[in-house]
Amino acid sequence: MFEPDFTAEADRQLSVCNACRYCEGFCAVFGAVELRAAIGDGDVAYLANLCHDCRMCFDACMFTPPHEFAVNIPALMAEARVQTYERYSRPRVLAGLFRTPGWAIGGVTLACIVVVTLLVAFGMGTTALETVQVGPGAFYRVVPYLAMVVPAVVLGAFGILVLVYGARSYANDIRSGDGRFVSLRSVSTAIRDAITLVYLKGGGEGCYDVKRGSPWRRFFHMLVFWGVLADFSATICAAIAQDLLGYLPPYPLWSIPVALGTLGGVAIVVGAAGLIALKVRSDAKPTSARMIAMDYAFLAMLETVALTGLALLAFRSTAAMGSLLAIHLGSLAALFITAPYGKFVHIVYRSIALVKNAAEQNGA
Ligand code: SF4
Repeated sequence: MFEPDFTAEADRQLSVCNACRYCEGFCAVFGAVELRAAIGDGDVAYLANLCHDCRMCFDACMFTPPHEFAVNIPALMAEARVQTYERYSRPRVLAGLFRTPGWAIGGVTLACIVVVTLLVAFGMGTTALETVQVGPGAFYRVVPYLAMVVPAVVLGAFGILVLVYGARSYANDIRSGDGRFVSLRSVSTAIRDAITLVYLKGGGEGCYDVKRGSPWRRFFHMLVFWGVLADFSATICAAIAQDLLGYLPPYPLWSIPVALGTLGGVAIVVGAAGLIALKVRSDAKPTSARMIAMDYAFLAMLETVALTGLALLAFRSTAAMGSLLAIHLGSLAALFITAPYGKFVHIVYRSIALVKNAAEQNGA
């Protein structure tokens, strides 16, 4: 639950919006507010994750500080999002990672890289970290196949369990007595809205983070989104090539796994760097300090994984391959461990909020 004062403040600010209604035609959040006589705890959690932080409403609003009404919807929604991420994550002791995301992600990443490097050094000998390995199975002469797959499956399954628990709790809380909101129609509408990032269009032209109606945030976010999907697809293709077709990695540059992985890696590097650059230049007033810290930490994590992956590809035929493989696997392990406790979870809560919004809009 949010603190009663926080929910009351959300209700107060959104009542002003409900009276004004200027932003209603531009943003799904205000259309959803219009359907509610009062804003309760579940409504705040729902609206916060429906908000895409485009900041159009802050630019348009005549009641922002220093006006006595002090309406700042993007900041309110950003703080509520951070609180929902923390509220629905388990175990609680790890959910505390949300409070200091930069230190947590930096510390976990460093620890994972050190642990993987030490395991390789003790398990395979220090020569594995500094010897040229080429030909089929070269990576597995540094880190054996099972030593790669088992930790990835265990960490992946744990992360999925945490996310499923959070998704279920969140969906129950925002249901607010109106029954099931999941249907084929609402899910397909939500998928379309998520893939096109339609709510990052603000009033139509784009976000209002560095200047009015800038398309760049949507563009860089698209690069990261499709880059992650391309890298995930590359992993599936590599598994098929190895386990079904019997070809051991490393694969040629022109092969589907490497081409997809490279495209995805480059897209993530450019997209995450672009988002960081926009964040550095944007106004901090219409957001929360905790959300900014979480954004930077997650983007830095993505940059680390993508850059170490590309470096491994570039130097895989050299003596640096062993060390680069250990560093890349360590950073991947850190991504798996921290993903359920960082900005990554916005994919889950935002998707559920979009499904509920689609159901409300269809019903309306
Ligand atoms: S910041 Fe954008 S998405 Fe969020 S409430 Fe304002 S207009 Fe809507």
